[in-house]
Amino acid sequence: MVMGGLNNSIIKRAMEKELISIEAVNIRDYTLDKHKKVDDYPFGGGAGMLMQAQPVYDCYKAVIGKIDTFADSTRSMEGEDIPEDGPAKTRVLYMSPQGKTFHQEMAKELSKEENLIFLCGHYEGIDQRVLDKIGVEEVSVGDYVLTGGELPAMVMIDTIARLVPGVLNNDASSVDESFSEGMLEYPQYTRPEVWEGERVPEVLLSGHHANIEKWRKEMSLKNTKEKRPDLLK
Ligand code: SAH
Repeated sequence: MVMGGLNNSIIKRAMEKELISIEAVNIRDYTLDKHKKVDDYPFGGGAGMLMQAQPVYDCYKAVIGKIDTFADSTRSMEGEDIPEDGPAKTRVLYMSPQGKTFHQEMAKELSKEENLIFLCGHYEGIDQRVLDKIGVEEVSVGDYVLTGGELPAMVMIDTIARLVPGVLNNDASSVDESFSEGMLEYPQYTRPEVWEGERVPEVLLSGHHANIEKWRKEMSLKNTKEKRPDLLK
């Protein structure tokens, strides 16, 4: 599901150009249970099932090991010394409705990280002990509850990946857009100049860059005032 959703279009090209690398890992592959079980009933009762600590932790350790090997090989390819302090720095984001709500600023910050793990829960979530042991940061996509963390992870990966330099053909397109200056973007138009009797705003055809800039700023402000007045605060 995750690779199927991400291995398309812009993100696919970014992977091919090796600007980013994405791998989906199945936690179920790490269970020691002979029936491949990864969930069990919650202590204290209550509805639903919980993911157990063991498969999550073993999977996490395997992924960290892989990241370290990868980081070391990249460094030696680039002639850099491999630091002896070992593990490459990796942030673990636990997809959770209880987390901080994901937003563009957070995406910008995360796009500068070398390694990210997106831990996806299922059923009613994950045994708290393993979340504490790993030291996860909880991040939410919004105040609603999904069946699993995969869709939230895909949303975040897509958002973060397009901010990595070179992923968009024109890097300016991620600077000059909604939320980047705390405002929404201005309306945009493409050919033809007249469609169904509607003309493109004249100023955009003028070639006068200062006027275009000024018009866009005004429209950005108007858009934000009308649609998201909360952003202006
Ligand atoms: N019982 C939990 C919800 C479990 S939903 C609670 O009440 O907090 C099952 C899994 O889906 C979670 O472990 C999480 O990984 C994912 N998930 C659900 N809603 C989410 C959201 N809004 N943002 C990010 N992940 C979410």
